[in-house]
Amino acid sequence: MHPTIEQYQNQFARFFGAERAFAFWKGRVALYALLRTLDVGQGDEVILPGYTCVMNVNPIKYVGAKPVYVDIEPATFNIDVNLLEEKITATTKIIIAQHTYGYPCDMDPILDIAQRHGVSVIEDCCLAFGSQYKGRIVGTLGRAGYFSFQWNKPYTTGLGGMVITSDKQLAGRIETLQADEMCSPSLREIFMLSAQLLIYRLLVYPRTTALAQSLFRYLTRKGAVVGSSDKSEFEPSKAKDFFKGAGAMQARSGLRQLRRIEQNISHRINMARLYDEILASIGYKSRDYDKTVITPVMVRYPVRITEKEKALGEAAKAGIELGSWFECPLHPIETPLASYDYTIGMCPEAEKAGREVVNLPLHPRADAGTVKKSADFITGFSHASS
Ligand SMILES: *Cc1c(COP(=O)(O)O)cnc(C)c1O
Repeated sequence: MHPTIEQYQNQFARFFGAERAFAFWKGRVALYALLRTLDVGQGDEVILPGYTCVMNVNPIKYVGAKPVYVDIEPATFNIDVNLLEEKITATTKIIIAQHTYGYPCDMDPILDIAQRHGVSVIEDCCLAFGSQYKGRIVGTLGRAGYFSFQWNKPYTTGLGGMVITSDKQLAGRIETLQADEMCSPSLREIFMLSAQLLIYRLLVYPRTTALAQSLFRYLTRKGAVVGSSDKSEFEPSKAKDFFKGAGAMQARSGLRQLRRIEQNISHRINMARLYDEILASIGYKSRDYDKTVITPVMVRYPVRITEKEKALGEAAKAGIELGSWFECPLHPIETPLASYDYTIGMCPEAEKAGREVVNLPLHPRADAGTVKKSADFITGFSHASS
């Protein structure tokens, strides 16, 4: 293993107070490694919220298991624990507790239900870096946690993923799997990713995000950039290529991000509070969660509105960095959901959220001015009541 990757893993684990951290090429590869080492395979079931991205579902299908979707509770967009237990069957192996937008899941009842049924809980922390549940940092509450460093996550290394765990046996199994099957990124992939990060740093500041996004999409379609969603990656013939470790370049970039992680986290907390204040001061609905239980570190600030399409159309023109995910239960795939074992109507709250929720910037370049302007823009649209 490259010493920089080792250093990155160690510092990452130390930040979380976890025993071990394992770096991967992408977040979905981190999830795949967990499914493999937790013996999830043909005929097994994996429970996850019906408000997720298809990158979470693909690794489940890839190991031959079946995704089982639980609807979300409207305030935090996380698994509705009241609907969880009824989804558990004799073949349930794993519950994925996805901390959506940065809101921690209600972990106590989830862990309790899991324990009673002999099921493992793993935490999807891709959108929640530093969030706390009852004073404990998310990623350390379940058997393992996984992260993504793709470019709209709490911090980015272009692409990237990580697993953390304090379960020694599981860590040992991940090491064995890595030794047996993991490949390294190719020189071409590393070169392309470096170029992508460079373009990202040059172009992505609030005003040009829409432009940068279209440029990225264009380049990705042309095959000039290492895409984060390569349709062919889940073809069985590509199996060996999919299970890929991180490169030293990602580790260097990640170490830089870790050095300023405290600022990143406090900035997100402060700017989210500023959104709360501005929205509340004009009688618009702000975040609604139990402050005595959770301290969310949000990746973006979600708001429900009635005219989502219109807002998205006008945002680009107004220079507002308005995000829209998740747009459907398995973002960004609208059809065919059946091949992902989802049927429309399965998770009505998730589908409603998909129609209503947009999100506002909180990243390190979004300052108080950006927040005021974004809040001002969004309150020009009617709030949709959850
Ligand atoms: C981005 C994301 C993933 C997948 O991460 P990749 O690095 O793109 O593979 C998984 N879960 C959630 C909630 C995400 O937002």
